[in-house]
Amino acid sequence: MPNRRQLLDAHTHLNAAILESEPWEASYKASPSTFKRLVHEEAALQASANEYLLGLAERIPKLINWNDPKLMQLRADTTLPMSDEVWKAEAALLMASVLANITELQVIGANAGEIIYSIPMGFSTLNEAILVAAETQTAQMVSQVNESTRRYIQQSIKTSIELGEDGAAMKARIMKRISNPVRAEMIAQTEAVTAYQSGIELFAVETGAESSTWDCLLGACTLCKPLDGVTKPIGEYFILGNGDERRMPPGHVRCRCGRIINYPK
Ligand SMILES: [Zn+2]
Repeated sequence: MPNRRQLLDAHTHLNAAILESEPWEASYKASPSTFKRLVHEEAALQASANEYLLGLAERIPKLINWNDPKLMQLRADTTLPMSDEVWKAEAALLMASVLANITELQVIGANAGEIIYSIPMGFSTLNEAILVAAETQTAQMVSQVNESTRRYIQQSIKTSIELGEDGAAMKARIMKRISNPVRAEMIAQTEAVTAYQSGIELFAVETGAESSTWDCLLGACTLCKPLDGVTKPIGEYFILGNGDERRMPPGHVRCRCGRIINYPK
């Protein structure tokens, strides 16, 4: 019988093959070796996020003030405030679950730059700029995930009360909402592109690149479409179809647009 670790590895492997067959903008595949690493590490990140969310479902009772006699009145403090120690503990756990994956994805992006533009720089997990960027990205992601967990709990409680469910049904509803595997998939897809592009950015800055050109996937959404072929100096913002600003893809959740790096002629 295979053990749990082996089953998880097999699942990650299978998932990487699925991710590989999904639509990606051409620049991601310009270096086949880093593309293979990218899809594998995105699958690994998804597995890490999934593991965290499964554990989170079990810790849910700690995040809710079950003894609050006013629970049924839908007070905002039904879930403990963001400043509470339990949320800090959640942040630390999620950080520990995904930081290595995000760091590796940043390295993969920087390595892709080295290969595609033929400028070897020796980027690795030892690079200080990568470590700082990965930690910043992970901290932002962790606080967003915590915020949505808290919001999902509140929404689930509201629905439960409207439907007249008992405590057990309410708990089941909350757990289903927050440890949904689609959530892990969404986190992995978005953060993988964020990390990869951030790695490319570090490579671009350190090699004296001048600008980058946004390249959309065929059939891109209305947010990204206006950016197709737009060139901006490194560090400046691209403006999405809805007016939001991004220094690099992803333009939105699950975006797999890419960038071409330009050097002074
Ligand atoms: Zn896009």
